[in-house]
Amino acid sequence: MDNRQNRLKLAVQKSGRLTDHSLDILARCGLKISRGKDQLIAYGENLPLDLLFVRDDDIPDLVQEDVCDLGLVGLNVLEERRLEMLARGAEAKFQILRALDFGYCRLSLAVPEGVEWKGPQTLQGKRIATTYPAVLGRYLAEHSIDAEIVTLSGAVEIAPRLGRADFICDLVSSGSTLAANHLREVETILQSQVVLIRTPVKLSAFKEEWIERLLLRIDGVEQVKESKYIMLHAPRSALPRIRELLPGSEFPTIIPLEGSPDKVAVHAVCRENVFWETLESLKAAGASSLLVLPVEKMLS
Ligand code: ATP
Ligand code: ZN
Repeated sequence: MDNRQNRLKLAVQKSGRLTDHSLDILARCGLKISRGKDQLIAYGENLPLDLLFVRDDDIPDLVQEDVCDLGLVGLNVLEERRLEMLARGAEAKFQILRALDFGYCRLSLAVPEGVEWKGPQTLQGKRIATTYPAVLGRYLAEHSIDAEIVTLSGAVEIAPRLGRADFICDLVSSGSTLAANHLREVETILQSQVVLIRTPVKLSAFKEEWIERLLLRIDGVEQVKESKYIMLHAPRSALPRIRELLPGSEFPTIIPLEGSPDKVAVHAVCRENVFWETLESLKAAGASSLLVLPVEKMLS
């Protein structure tokens, strides 16, 4: 059953901002890969899942053309491709299965320091440098603005200084690159994070089942990130207050304590981080012997 045709192929960025996080989440899902440096493909040793290492810009097409079954890519790249296709009368075929908790960034408009921003109309008749002409084009159309889009393949942030554009529209996460280039972020036009996409093609039952299993594992991985297992002792009378204080936990387990009829042990999974402040409040409410443990795996 486990031959080459029946293995899922997942496209990930070969080397860039998304690579480490992508491999990390797959490792947490239990995938062990054998990969030599600079190899195009890594074979899953213990799951019927292989990885194809490519440029992130190629991932939407590899998936919608069914070269790969799955892909991990930023929404920014996906949305640009979708709008580009739409402009040519074609409909994008990749399907988004999950949004993942990494690769956060935003596509923003930025103006050179000292330039006044009076809203979108400031862009009227100006030149805007970007690597995302389709997403920017949609924004301009939505605001009925006529501006010239200067499409660049990189180094957008230096375009104003070179005299190639008046403004820029670029990806930002911390904003430090903008600041270093004397630019000021004025408006976000797209929020982005990494998503898992799949081919539109119906796959073999075996592959479909493995996609389902992978999704369950991804959900589990995302859930445990913030989750903690908390144990404490408490007087029975304090239970209502203590239950209120436990962050994101619906059904704690209450266990009687041998030889101590008024006291119980409370065990609970908290689906949020447990901070010192919470522990202090629990203690003030009567809890003792508090223990907080990380959760490694979870399957609901
Ligand atoms: P490739 O060679 O694969 O085409 P790249 O130069 O396009 O690489 P990276 O700079 O590695 O790509 O960024 C990959 C993705 O990381 C972006 O498309 C975006 O989704 C995400 N990202 C997160 N923060 C940022 C940021 N501050 N700047 C750029 N991209 C970011
Ligand atoms: Zn790229």
